[in-house]
Amino acid sequence: MKVQVLNQDVTEVFIGVGSNLSDPEYQVRQAFKALQALPETQWGAASDLYHSRPQGPQNQPDFVNAVVRLKTRLTPIALLRALQRIEREQGKVKQRHWGERLIDLDILLYGNTTLQTDDLIIPHPFMAQRDFVLLPLLALSPKAALPNGVLLADLAKQLDEVFVKPMSADENGGLIPEQLGK
Ligand code: AMP
Repeated sequence: MKVQVLNQDVTEVFIGVGSNLSDPEYQVRQAFKALQALPETQWGAASDLYHSRPQGPQNQPDFVNAVVRLKTRLTPIALLRALQRIEREQGKVKQRHWGERLIDLDILLYGNTTLQTDDLIIPHPFMAQRDFVLLPLLALSPKAALPNGVLLADLAKQLDEVFVKPMSADENGGLIPEQLGK
């Protein structure tokens, strides 16, 4: 099957970046460089880097997470393949489910597109519950919404707990629950 590689229009996309192995901060910054070199794609901005706790198994190091905003003409599937190539070239090997990872690149939002295939689900299926996705993305785009119109800011207010913390902030800095309107 021939995969369509380019869209006619430029689409704003948000990519989740995460690592908890081999100097995670370095890994995230390497991924930024690789994203800057993507074909048919214009770099927008990267969020601050955030410390977050692992999902799933807790016997693994904390994560460093960030979100990147891009504009691309790559189709969703071509973008996924490009992200998987970056992951491979950076040395990612598949480990346990929700386990430790050298680098993880997820398509969070692709314009207003909703998509569900065996390979690719957009919006990313868990983004609405993840503080380490919602807060960095909101820092880049405070009015961001899901394709169904739900504001990410409203989803962030519904988070049970917020563990994530910007690395640039001191102990009391960054977004804390009070600032999220709790
Ligand atoms: P993981 O390594 O745990 O992030 O899982 C990667 C798998 O998730 C890949 O096989 C992708 O095909 C699949 N996947 C489904 N939706 C997405 C998405 N929005 N972004 C990235 N990967 C996705």
